[in-house]
Amino acid sequence: EIPKQKYDYQSDVARLRKIVINSLYSHRDVFLRELISNANDALEKLRLTALTDQAVLEGAEQLNVTIKAFKDEQDGKNKIVITDTGIGMTAEELTSHLGTLAKSGTSEFLSKAESSDGANTGNLIGAFGVGFYSSFLVADKVNVASVAAKSAQNPEPKQYVFTSSSEESTFEVFPDPRGNTLGRGTEITLFLKDDANEYVDTDKLTQLIQKHSSFSSQFPIYLFTQRTEEVPDEEVASSDAESSTTSASTEETTSPVSDDDEEAIVEEVSDDAEPKKEEEKETKMKSVVVDEWVKMNPQAPLWMRDPKTVTDEEYELFYHATFKDYEKPLAWHHFSGDTGSGTSFRAIIYIPSRLDDSFWQVSQSTSKDFRLMVKRVFITNDLGEDTLPKWASWVKVVVDAEDLPLNVSRETLQSTKFLKQLKGVIVRRLIQALTKIQDEDPEKFAKISKVYNNVVKLGAVEDTKNRDKLATLARFPTNQRNNTSLDGYLENKKQGQKQIFYLADMGQEAENLAKSVFVEKLHARGYEVLLMGQPLDEIFVQNLRAWKKYPFQDVAKAGLKFGDEDDDEETMNALSEKYRPLLDWLKKEAADIVRDVIVSNRLVASSCAIVADTYGYTANIEKMLSSSQD
Ligand code: ADP
Ligand code: MG
Repeated sequence: EIPKQKYDYQSDVARLRKIVINSLYSHRDVFLRELISNANDALEKLRLTALTDQAVLEGAEQLNVTIKAFKDEQDGKNKIVITDTGIGMTAEELTSHLGTLAKSGTSEFLSKAESSDGANTGNLIGAFGVGFYSSFLVADKVNVASVAAKSAQNPEPKQYVFTSSSEESTFEVFPDPRGNTLGRGTEITLFLKDDANEYVDTDKLTQLIQKHSSFSSQFPIYLFTQRTEEVPDEEVASSDAESSTTSASTEETTSPVSDDDEEAIVEEVSDDAEPKKEEEKETKMKSVVVDEWVKMNPQAPLWMRDPKTVTDEEYELFYHATFKDYEKPLAWHHFSGDTGSGTSFRAIIYIPSRLDDSFWQVSQSTSKDFRLMVKRVFITNDLGEDTLPKWASWVKVVVDAEDLPLNVSRETLQSTKFLKQLKGVIVRRLIQALTKIQDEDPEKFAKISKVYNNVVKLGAVEDTKNRDKLATLARFPTNQRNNTSLDGYLENKKQGQKQIFYLADMGQEAENLAKSVFVEKLHARGYEVLLMGQPLDEIFVQNLRAWKKYPFQDVAKAGLKFGDEDDDEETMNALSEKYRPLLDWLKKEAADIVRDVIVSNRLVASSCAIVADTYGYTANIEKMLSSSQD
């Protein structure tokens, strides 16, 4: 008797399974993508472990994924079997990995899915992916047989089975009665639901794999197919043999795969030897079933290909599969580079369609989307201290280095200059890519700017080396238009204008800033004023101080200069003299509030304004200071 263990699902898993089974019906296709991506993860883990421990490779020679769909004559069920030769799972791992929720995103998915209606859940699955449990979209029973790779902790690998059916809230784990049939890795058998029988069709599977999964695996994916083929009947073939020795010898090879080629050879040879007519006798044909493992994914990984040969769709599919983000990226940049100390690499940088909600909440970047490979082998997605600077931490990157030894560990990587240099190159290339889009595709840049404008300003503040390039990418609304760059502002300056005018008031809409008394005079005279309502804006100008030698001038502060002739100092001095008694009286009356009272040319409709001293705090910063005190 085989000892069986029966377990209850962890409560979150039970909830997730229920949601998956009940409400994602119209997105069932994703099950295959999820299972293939798990197989790929398991193969990547194996290959990474093998770099330091060759023993894990024992048990199965090839590293691949195989998929076979068939009708089981014994129980009449349609089945799909997905097998990988990856790292595998021990009995404990089958229990914990498939019976509990390890994924951080999944609990978030759960709460969102449960609070939304069924129709909405469909979009959620795209955003989150639900992993292994998506099996239950198409299967009413799932068996997972697995042999974990040999290691010090697992010296004698044994094959175990995890089995679970969709109606029950329990699963079982037990030693596989078949013994160790896998050698190493995992075999997932889906017992298809009656309404999911379409998935047993290899054409359907081929189409699905090509649509969703051709980039989900860096390892070969083979699909088992059976095709019927018409081949010449034996009898006819032997009568052929009498007329031509060449054709007789080719008929002897029975490989069904290369049949077509052989026919071509036969014809060619006969053409030469005899008049065609004699070949046109009736050849008797018969049907044979040819079994074949057909490779589903392309030969070379996407990043190794020439960018000119890669379509937008391929870049997007690769992005979805690699980063599990099912929204389209806004842009990407595919290039080969060099760290400067002789390590060449290939990379693709992706700009996601949105910033993570937590981006502005955490001070240190914690990106897990910098995938570093060495010669096609995945090494790490955690660069530790050498991760990208905060402002650029949202990019998703694939890097494959050519000239590093394969057995590098993260520690040795950090001790080399490689990561530091790589980081520099990636940041530089990202800025280059953004600049190119800005210059060549304004529409696309507008989309990027909508998401990343504040990020670019943060970059200009943080990254002094790249400050000017990043500041060039920043956009600001003005009293005259929706937005402009700093260069655009200067192009639009009035004759004689010597300052860049701005008004900063954190948290204010541009519309409200435009109505400010400080802006009105400049507006009336045809000057453009940058309206800075974003949290980083004021720090941005304080760091830059000037742009192309034009100093920034806060219009709410003293020091405003105009270029027009009627503003010359003489006029102002004359006016000050004329109104001296009034000014003196006002100054005396308001001595507790203001430092000085002067004649101003900055107002149109309002009769007076209180402004901050040139070297004093602006109202905005005072607001920040007083709020931080309580
Ligand atoms: P995720 O892949 O996001 O971690 P899944 O639900 O897809 O979530 O898988 C859960 C866990 O089960 C994986 O993290 C992995 O540890 C394990 N697992 C799933 N499929 C396989 C497999 N084919 N080989 C080895 N382990 C697997
Ligand atoms: Mg997964």
